[in-house]
Amino acid sequence: MSIRLIALCLLVCLAAPACGGGDGLYKKTKVIMGTYVTITVARGGLPEVVVRAAVADAYSEIERIDRLMSTYKPESQLSQINREAGMRPVKADPEVIAVIQDALDVATMTGGAFDPTVGPLVRLWGIGGDKARVPGKDEIDAARRLVGFSHVILDKKAGTVFIENKGMAVDLGGIAKGYASDRAVEILKARGIKGGIVAVAGDLKLFGAGEGGKPWKIGIQHPRKPDALLTELEVNDAATSTSGDYERYFIKDGRRYCHILDPKTGYPASGLMSVTVLARDSYLADSLATGLFVMGPEKANAFARSHPEIEVLMVAGDGSISSTGRFRGVTPGSL
Ligand code: ADP
Ligand code: MG
Repeated sequence: MSIRLIALCLLVCLAAPACGGGDGLYKKTKVIMGTYVTITVARGGLPEVVVRAAVADAYSEIERIDRLMSTYKPESQLSQINREAGMRPVKADPEVIAVIQDALDVATMTGGAFDPTVGPLVRLWGIGGDKARVPGKDEIDAARRLVGFSHVILDKKAGTVFIENKGMAVDLGGIAKGYASDRAVEILKARGIKGGIVAVAGDLKLFGAGEGGKPWKIGIQHPRKPDALLTELEVNDAATSTSGDYERYFIKDGRRYCHILDPKTGYPASGLMSVTVLARDSYLADSLATGLFVMGPEKANAFARSHPEIEVLMVAGDGSISSTGRFRGVTPGSL
């Protein structure tokens, strides 16, 4: 959590110098979705009370999404859906169904590298919590058999979600933070804010311009040096998301186990240290960063090259960098 905080501070502090000071910016941080959520907006001549109310509303929106889609909250709609797995379809808000649909689309797009039914494996490994451990092979195989996104049946007419098999569980941890930042930006725009950054952990959505009409400047954290940046980028309207093995992980017998799991093997993904995706929407950047992380360097590289609508920066396990779009030319430095 502390490394994550440093990462976030870096990301958001960098926004200020690009905008010539900071007087014109309003910034606030809260803990939601188990992580730090920082909202920075350009005041743009609006009354202070309007700016503060807009940011408060954006936070309420993220809290609302967390209440609907968290697997850590037993009363969330997603937890209710998971409890009825293998038993019956559950009524859900159109919004919950739409986010699950997005997650299923990304699962198809990534050939199952991103799979929102990874829930049983997430639970088994417990990475990020205090009960994290390396499970036995039998346990991993049993959990792996309960993963498969084709078993999630959405009935949009009836407004229901049905998970076909008992023990299966949908986990939106790889997409909900991105979706929340997309929504928070919509709220800020609707309240008249002309430029801002919503950062939900490593998922950032940026819009408009900063102080003096200058673009926002963001830094992409180095996966092995918490205080160093791989690169900086100027952006106006975009989303970036970074998935890495350096925030939630544990080391056992010299091996690093991170919180992104490969649905095919049942083990934490390895092969990459970090993947950053730049896209138009944050839900897509978030889920694709997770999916590409699972794919590993070769497959992720091929995916990035065949999807020019996203721009990708990847650091492989050996420290080598591959990149597309605006990230071209980034070099590893000394890892
Ligand atoms: P972070 O949550 O640290 O920003 P990610 O966006 O990469 O990182 O999401 C990781 C979370 O996504 C995990 O904590 C878990 O809830 C979920 N997850 C893990 N592996 C996968 C996977 N292969 N496909 C989809 N979701 C996953
Ligand atoms: Mg992600």
